Amino acid sequence: MIGSSVVVRTRSWIVLCLGLLTVGAPAAYAADCPGHPDALGTSRTLVVDPREHPRIGTMQYRETLPLKDHEVVLTFDDGPLPKYSNQVLKILADECIKATFFIIGNQAKANPEGVRKLVAAGHTVGTHSMDHPLTFDRMPIEKAEAEINGGIEWTSAAMTDPSQLAPFFRIPGLMRAEGVENLLISRGIQVWSADFPADDWRHVSSDRVYQLAIQRLEAKGKGILLLHDIQARTVAALPKIIRDLKARGYRIVHVVPATAERPATPTTAVEWLLHPPTETTPIARWPRVPNFVFTQTRMLPAPALADLNAQTEHQPLLPRRTKGQMDIASTLPVPDRDLFAIPEGSVEVLLSTTLSRRAATRLAMAAEPPHAARGKAAQGKAAKGKAAKLQGRRTAHTASAAPDHAAQPIDIAPKGTAAKVTAAKGIAAKGIAVKDAASKRATPRPTRVASLKKRV
Ligand SMILES: [Zn+2]
Repeated sequence: MIGSSVVVRTRSWIVLCLGLLTVGAPAAYAADCPGHPDALGTSRTLVVDPREHPRIGTMQYRETLPLKDHEVVLTFDDGPLPKYSNQVLKILADECIKATFFIIGNQAKANPEGVRKLVAAGHTVGTHSMDHPLTFDRMPIEKAEAEINGGIEWTSAAMTDPSQLAPFFRIPGLMRAEGVENLLISRGIQVWSADFPADDWRHVSSDRVYQLAIQRLEAKGKGILLLHDIQARTVAALPKIIRDLKARGYRIVHVVPATAERPATPTTAVEWLLHPPTETTPIARWPRVPNFVFTQTRMLPAPALADLNAQTEHQPLLPRRTKGQMDIASTLPVPDRDLFAIPEGSVEVLLSTTLSRRAATRLAMAAEPPHAARGKAAQGKAAKGKAAKLQGRRTAHTASAAPDHAAQPIDIAPKGTAAKVTAAKGIAAKGIAVKDAASKRATPRPTRVASLKKRV
C-alpha cells in the first residue's frame, strides 16, 4: 500500500543491490567482506529475548547487552532520511557492519523504501514512535500507546515482510517513564536505551562526534553506541569512528531478536551487567531507576536576601565587634601624627644604643642641646597644669615654629628635666658619640618611632 506510491530512484536501486549482496550472511568477518579486505566486519550475532531482559542500556538501566570486552553495538535513530541514511548504509556496507536502526513512523511513511533498504542490507530494524515527541515521560499512556503503535504500523507497512520488524523500541529523547516501559514490556517489546551517545544531534563538529564516540567507548570498554542516521556530521564522523574501532581492536556485534526458530544466545545474568561483580565483591541491591526528566524541571526559588545574611537570624560564625565597641572607636580622636615624630638627631642616638627603650628615651632627651632642655624646663615652669602637659607631649615639628622645643620626651615632667640634662651630660662625657642635633634642626624630619607611642 505504501510502497506502491513511492517512486523508486535508480540511485536507490544501486544501494539496494549492494545491500542484497549481504543478505543471508550470518556474520561477516573482516576477511569475509568482499572487496574490502581491511573492513572491520561484524564479529558475531547476538540473539536476545526481550522477555528475559526487557530494559537495556546503562545510560538509564541496570542491565545492558551481554557484550564481551571490546565489543560494540552500533545503533542509529530517527531515520530513514534518504540524504543521509543512504550514505550511512554505504559506509556500513563497505565495512560489512550490521547495525540496529530505530525508525520514526513518519519517516517510514514518507520513505518506505529506506526501511526496505535497511532490511535488505541485513540490519536490525526497531521503532522509535510515530512522531518523535519528547514528552513520553509525561504524556497520557493512551497517547504514548498511540505513538508506539503508529511507529510500528508504518515501519512494518514499509517492509516486504513485516515479521522482519524487531520488537525493539527506543523512547524518543530517552524520556523514559515507568508506565510506558511497562506497556512495552507487556507486549514483549524490549526497551533500548544506550551505553553512551556521541552527541551527534547537537551542534558540534564531526570531529567532536568522533572524539566523543571513542572517548566514551574507551571509558566503558564496550557497549551500545547511540548515533543518528539523519545528520551530516554523523555521516562525516562514521568512517573515522569505524577505522579507529578497528585500530583499537574493537569488534562489532549484531543484535537480533529471538524467534521460535532462532533461540536466544545462552548467557548468564551477570553478563547483562556492564561490569559484572567479581566473586569477592559483595553485591548490593540495585537502586530503583529514577525517572529521567529533562524538561519541565521545577526551578528552585531564588534565595531571598535574608536567607543569605546568616548573621541576622543566627549566631555569627566569627566574633564581631559589639555595638559598644564600635561607639567607643567612633568617639576616640585620631592621634596627631606629630605625636610620633622626633627629630632625626635623637633617632640616631636611639639607634646607636642597645639600652632598653626607657633608657633610650632618656638618652634621646639628653642628646638635645642644653638650651633646648632648659627652654622646655622654663616653659614647663611658666605654664603649669594641663596646658603644660599637653605641650610636653609634643615634639618639635618645624624649625620655624619651635626649633628649641625639639625632642621633648613624652613621659618626663618639666620638673625633672634639669637633673636629667645633667645626667645626659655625664653620658656624653663618657664618650658616647652624639651628633649635634642643632645642625639638623634647620630641616628637621619627623620620624615615627613605634616605641614612643604608649602614653595614654
Ligand atoms: Zn530520536
